[in-house]
Amino acid sequence: MAIDFDDGYEERLVSSTLLPDEDGEVSLRPRFLADYTGQRKAKENLGVFIEAAKRRKEPLDHVLLYGPPGLGKTTLAGVIANEMGVHIRITSGPAIEKAGDLAALLTNLDEYDILFVDEIHRLNRAVEEILYPAMEDYAVDIILGKGPSARSIRLDLKKFTLIGATTRAGQLTAPLRDRFGVIERLELYSPDELRRIVTRSASILNIPIEPEGAMEIASRSRGTPRVANRILRRVRDFAQVKAHGVITKEVADDALGRLEIDRIGLDAVDRRMLMSIVNNFGGGPVGLDTLAATIGEESITLEDVYEPYLMQLGFLNRTPRGRCVTGRALEHLGISVNSEQLTMNN
Ligand code: ADP
Repeated sequence: MAIDFDDGYEERLVSSTLLPDEDGEVSLRPRFLADYTGQRKAKENLGVFIEAAKRRKEPLDHVLLYGPPGLGKTTLAGVIANEMGVHIRITSGPAIEKAGDLAALLTNLDEYDILFVDEIHRLNRAVEEILYPAMEDYAVDIILGKGPSARSIRLDLKKFTLIGATTRAGQLTAPLRDRFGVIERLELYSPDELRRIVTRSASILNIPIEPEGAMEIASRSRGTPRVANRILRRVRDFAQVKAHGVITKEVADDALGRLEIDRIGLDAVDRRMLMSIVNNFGGGPVGLDTLAATIGEESITLEDVYEPYLMQLGFLNRTPRGRCVTGRALEHLGISVNSEQLTMNN
């Protein structure tokens, strides 16, 4: 699938279509709210706000979407654009280096367009300050010249909608957060919702799959559609080479075992993380950075990608003094709760 990049902008700064799925031959992203599975609360709210904005012939209020990676924030931004019938421009916090880059982006938006800024918590301060008047008054203040002769001119913008996405709403500055009229948190998906997503993706990719095969993949995808789609593609490879192309429960189970994804979706990193807390830190508490250094992963990855699912399973607690494993995790890992090596002070 070709990616159309907006004329005049470098690839990394902005694109005008959603990026394809990572190893994607075809896009699996739903295009309208009706095909967007799960996230009932966010979908219901946004459905109302979109309908109201359309009736009033106004742009949608600025929207902040937050939650762990792979839950569908970018996809939902695209869905909102389709539902509103407007264009979307896509960029990300780290890609916008200078205030001028953002000012150029904003002045090029058409009436009611959506500007999607992924990882919005990573905007630098000077760039972020351009956004304040843009969001509030549809205007940008540009400073001309330097030193005592510098003067500021205000350029009016067309009315637009900013959609920001972040994995860490807590890192947004208060002035930025306060300028979003709609703030929606995306939740991890239930196995049944993921089963529907896997079934839909399999049909788009022309992969024969039995309902039990879809459920097997869904229940081992850590609540995350991106993971479910990725696993589906890998399991398809095993199905084609070893099992006449059809994904049955047995094929899915066998393939997931080979991929070292266990019965409840934990992978090698999850297990290393939990085992390290048990073996090296007596079950916890241990600080995130210490833990990350011990197992050779980035703290951010552990916090954003691994912890949400482990906490949802009730395998990990975050305490002010650090991370602790729970009895439930020990049970899953097959470690005796009375094991002497544990201090179990959690
Ligand atoms: P994020 O921006 O939160 O990291 P994405 O929007 O890129 O996540 O979604 C990751 C993948 O999961 C996409 O390729 C999309 O196909 C799929 N996906 C996400 N949410 C849904 C959903 N609600 N229904 C169906 N597929 C989804």
